[in-house]
Amino acid sequence: MAAEIIDGKAFAAQLREKVGALAADFAAKAGRKAGLAVVLVGDDPASQVYVGSKGKATLAANMASFEHRLPESTSEGDLLALVERLNADPAVDGILVQLPLPDHIDEQAVIAAIDPDKDVDGFHVANAGRLAVGQSGFVPCTPLGCMMLLTDRLGDLSGLNAVVIGRSNIVGKPMAQLLLDANATVTIAHSRTKDLADVVRRADIVVAAVGRAEMIRADWIKPGATVIDVGINRLAPEPGANKGRLVGDVAFDEVREVAGAITPVPGGVGPMTIAVLLRNTLVAAHRNAGIALPE
Ligand code: NDP
Repeated sequence: MAAEIIDGKAFAAQLREKVGALAADFAAKAGRKAGLAVVLVGDDPASQVYVGSKGKATLAANMASFEHRLPESTSEGDLLALVERLNADPAVDGILVQLPLPDHIDEQAVIAAIDPDKDVDGFHVANAGRLAVGQSGFVPCTPLGCMMLLTDRLGDLSGLNAVVIGRSNIVGKPMAQLLLDANATVTIAHSRTKDLADVVRRADIVVAAVGRAEMIRADWIKPGATVIDVGINRLAPEPGANKGRLVGDVAFDEVREVAGAITPVPGGVGPMTIAVLLRNTLVAAHRNAGIALPE
């Protein structure tokens, strides 16, 4: 039987609606809207699109959006000064610096300058540390979105075998941490993993965050497994087309014949990322204003 398709787009739309309603309540209670500042340096086309959609989604969720688009030539010092101003601005609850930054700017220095209590991306070392030791902090949006989809489908993850492929600081590592906190038995695979297909075959849950088009094949998947595909890869254009198709790290058409459930690309994990960013901003606003967030 073909797998259930996990509709991340619909799930994200519901989450955004819920966040929007809570953000309207927050504005009424606090006398101001929750605010998200997004900083973009340079004119990378993909980043421009992401920043534009984050701004629109923020406004649609009854929050204030502060966009700072800086030229490619911006110095690290000027960017750090902007981050300091945003840290001190009481109208700004969340700060997101769009990555990647130009080569002449040290990304780690910029992330380290963000107030951890406004770090809604969850990339600051203080938030990574909080996640590692089980304290509450901000969790990176993409893995938290994956986790929401997993618990929605599977409920209790205790004792399930989870394999996370990829060990980046923004997806793989926090994903593994969240699965461990949910009492799954977690394996983290990466480019040096031996016999990757055999490792993946043991998994009840597969999270693929690699960045290699359709690498994960049907014969790697345990029948009935839940497959979360984080990868976003653009294929070469078909003859006559000017843009190639977007695909994930999982060979969707064949894996769906074996898996129990699978996220599509696009329309799976991607939409969850912005929805969780809004949720994290709402949480930040409540904390900053000293107002309890309704359950
Ligand atoms: P990185 O490039 O930072 O990490 C990729 C990871 O995959 C690394 O840990 C690497 O291993 C591992 N890897 C590479 N090749 C192989 C291989 N052949 N076998 C096993 N593991 C391998 O990527 P990100 O974590 O930032 O992103 C991963 C993917 O997710 C990308 O396609 C990205 O576009 C997408 N993404 C999607 C988001 C969304 O909203 N849906 C958000 C963020 C990312 P090693 O560490 O050994 O090099």
